[in-house]
Amino acid sequence: MDYAATLLAKLPGAPKRDHGLRRLIETLESYLQSEQIENIMQAYEFGAAAHDGQTRMSGEPYISHPVAVAQELADMRLDSQAISAAILHDVVEDTSASIAEIEDRFGTEVAQLVDGVSKLDQIQFHSRAEAQAESFRKMMLAMIGDIRVILVKLADRLHNMQTLDAMPADKKTRIARETLDVYAPIANRLGINRFKVELEDLGFRYLHPFRYRVLEKALRRSRGSQRQMVKRVSEELKAALAAEGIEAELIGREKHLYSIYKKMAEKRRTLADVVDVFGFRIIVDDVSTCYQVLGIVHALYKPMPGRFKDYVAIPRINGYQSLHTTLFGPKGQPLEVQIRTHNMDRVAESGVASHWQYKAEDKSDATPQRRARDWLANLSELQRTETPEEFLESVKVDLFPDKIYVFTPKGDIMPLPKGATTVDFAYAVHTDIGNRCVAAKVDRKLVPLRSQLQNGQSVEIVTRRGAKPNPNWLTFVRTAKARTAIRHYMKTMRSSESADLGKRLLDQSLKDLGSSLRKVGKVRMKTAIEELGNSDVTKLFEQIGLGERLAPLTARFLLGVNEDGESEPSTASLVIAGTEGMVVSYARCCLPIPGDEVMGYLSSGRGIVIHRNNCGNLATFRKQPEKWISVSWEENVDLEFSSQIQVDTQNKPGVLAEVAATIADSDSNIEQVSVLGRHEDCYVLSFLLQVRDRDHLAKIMRRVRNMSNVLRISRDCA
Ligand code: MN
Repeated sequence: MDYAATLLAKLPGAPKRDHGLRRLIETLESYLQSEQIENIMQAYEFGAAAHDGQTRMSGEPYISHPVAVAQELADMRLDSQAISAAILHDVVEDTSASIAEIEDRFGTEVAQLVDGVSKLDQIQFHSRAEAQAESFRKMMLAMIGDIRVILVKLADRLHNMQTLDAMPADKKTRIARETLDVYAPIANRLGINRFKVELEDLGFRYLHPFRYRVLEKALRRSRGSQRQMVKRVSEELKAALAAEGIEAELIGREKHLYSIYKKMAEKRRTLADVVDVFGFRIIVDDVSTCYQVLGIVHALYKPMPGRFKDYVAIPRINGYQSLHTTLFGPKGQPLEVQIRTHNMDRVAESGVASHWQYKAEDKSDATPQRRARDWLANLSELQRTETPEEFLESVKVDLFPDKIYVFTPKGDIMPLPKGATTVDFAYAVHTDIGNRCVAAKVDRKLVPLRSQLQNGQSVEIVTRRGAKPNPNWLTFVRTAKARTAIRHYMKTMRSSESADLGKRLLDQSLKDLGSSLRKVGKVRMKTAIEELGNSDVTKLFEQIGLGERLAPLTARFLLGVNEDGESEPSTASLVIAGTEGMVVSYARCCLPIPGDEVMGYLSSGRGIVIHRNNCGNLATFRKQPEKWISVSWEENVDLEFSSQIQVDTQNKPGVLAEVAATIADSDSNIEQVSVLGRHEDCYVLSFLLQVRDRDHLAKIMRRVRNMSNVLRISRDCA
């Protein structure tokens, strides 16, 4: 019995069919140690048991799929953890097995890989826009901490594409488009040509079945007629290389269908133009031989001017290296020749994966991140000769991103800087959304606005008409767009609010003098504005509203009334509705609420500050009567105001909580609690509350006063 048969015989229940396992073992045997293969066999047993009874759309037992995925990676000689993860990649999503269980049995590394693949499966791509596809690719790369996760995912997609026939038609189209938009470009970016080519051809085949068939047929026909030519060129090339004593591997190359299709579509070539090109690849041992071979083929056939590319000296961005040249063949037809070393060939086929390829002598326990960095360092080394900026842009940013990608409710992808909050997201969607946002949901759960977003989350903003940005947001937003928009809003709000207030104040003062804005009229207004050195009437109102210019004086000036002319003392008062915005504020010293007797103090640059009539600070302001405005509350002010009460209680455990509960029970929010004094027999507590008006406050105080442990209660007025 051979090694594979021995292992197969050990499996429980001795399965009749091996679901590709025998071939996998034979591949693993060629590069892994038996201990590692046995670990992988345990993963197989676990996976087969978990998926037991499940079938693929094709009717095959489900376990055949993860084994096929593992085979793809084994063909690239990936390490044993990646192979185990490939076998287990669907168990968390599709069976009752958990990550914890996998960690327990197969270690943290395998568990993290499986977890990474499962997370990628949870995000879905819907959009058809190219820019969105680019963002989606970046999001996928940003979500993974280990490149092997994406390798498993690519192999998974490849096998799903290989077995796509079993799927219903609409799913075929969607999956094929996603493969072309997302997965093939990722494979290309990571330099994994073998995945890229197959993903593209399969994607093309299912997205455009008719075009695919036509092209395939035409290609097969031309290949038949070209066979003689290929044979002749191969022999001539081999002879020329042998004559110089060079050992080389010569491969007749077939272009893949999708690249032919793309060339035809993009460069508007006919099929004949594109397919009548012969491709050869010459693989040699070292770099200097590459250039020697180049000389030999140029001597054999005439090179086409302008078609030579030295990707050995200047590699492509994903690390690809080769010499490319196009020659005129024996009958004048173009021959495309690639010349590279075995090592370059391996990198060209496997890209980033070549860094995980198992090496028996490799004793370093480099972390996945470390290896990805090595790969990048290796790439930037190669790129040194040409535009390192471009290289960094395209590769490093993808693998170690400073951006996150989140979904809008419509499924669009929004890139944001790391650390961005829901408010940044709201402003990124639209300035109006940001300005009116009042709450945010992340993955359908309400979160505080200051919450920082993570990759792959879906974010929804709750807006309310008439809502305004909060200046406090400036302390946590990350994006310039949000910051600028909030500042801008504050500024314009302030000027429009102050203009409104100023207009009301001026009208009031004019009425005190038996006139009004309407009676003064536009013409007089215009000349007065010029005389006052102002540009327009709004500016004048703004100055009055902000307290930079006094309304009574301006009124007298407008009417041409002498400074010390007669004027009735103001009888009417300015009515405060609470909706004036930033130009009306409520003094922190006495915390006025609707129902209180109040006065307005015109504070230069700040607008009107409302104080209670019995506020202790009023005495100092009394000296400037011209700055005082008579104000009153509107009938029904529908707002919450801050108010402060002091409560003396008995010194008993739990009394603070009791008082707080009573307040909350009275439909009030507590903003702040402080303990002012703690004595043997009593506590002195201070509560900052939100109340609607005096009646509301009185009701709360009554309820608190009636509590058995409360000794005294009073409303603070410093
Ligand atoms: Mn799968």
